[in-house]
Amino acid sequence: MSRTLSPHAALIVVDVQPDFMPGGTLACHQGEAIVPGVDRLLRSRVFSHVVATQDWHPRGHISFASSHPGRAPFEQIALHGQPQTLWPDHCVQGTPGAELHPGIDWTALDAVVRKGSDPAVDSYSGFRENHGPQGARPSTGLAGWLRERGVDEVFVCGLARDICVLWTAQDAVELGVRASLLWDLSRPVTPTSDDATRATLQARGIALIESANLAI
Ligand SMILES: [Zn+2]
Repeated sequence: MSRTLSPHAALIVVDVQPDFMPGGTLACHQGEAIVPGVDRLLRSRVFSHVVATQDWHPRGHISFASSHPGRAPFEQIALHGQPQTLWPDHCVQGTPGAELHPGIDWTALDAVVRKGSDPAVDSYSGFRENHGPQGARPSTGLAGWLRERGVDEVFVCGLARDICVLWTAQDAVELGVRASLLWDLSRPVTPTSDDATRATLQARGIALIESANLAI
């Protein structure tokens, strides 16, 4: 079953950057496999609104294990009262690994939301940073950008399925926007997380669809 897209639907392409691909510093499982499909979707011009997020950290970012002596990547610490996974250094501002992936034609892109620029706060979702020192999650401005364009539905794809894609979709529904996750155009950091991701999507009312079901 294919579906025709409303002009009020937007595509959010999350963190399709070389550092999240095999060979990058924080590779998703088979992350490169989504590149041709994302490229095809952008070239199809089926979405009236297209936004990409770009993880964009300063050197020495607080989410990097290297910023915490004695800690290793993928360990968890408490940060601003919340659990924080420590990551390998990744998507450092201005480095090739932080670019929007060169294998995709980005000319259909309307906006890029850079996230994770605050040295002291991590940022998974395209809508809101993670919890900051004051306990709140600072907005990236994306919800307002979509609202002013009349968008009431988003389709989310990209990397990583179990983290930034999932948090972006969850925030969308929490902020009152319908959300679907394009399963075939996403990949996780941890493949064993897929069952938990599916359960979370179902619990939050987020549709799980394949890009082949879009009318392209
Ligand atoms: Zn990051």
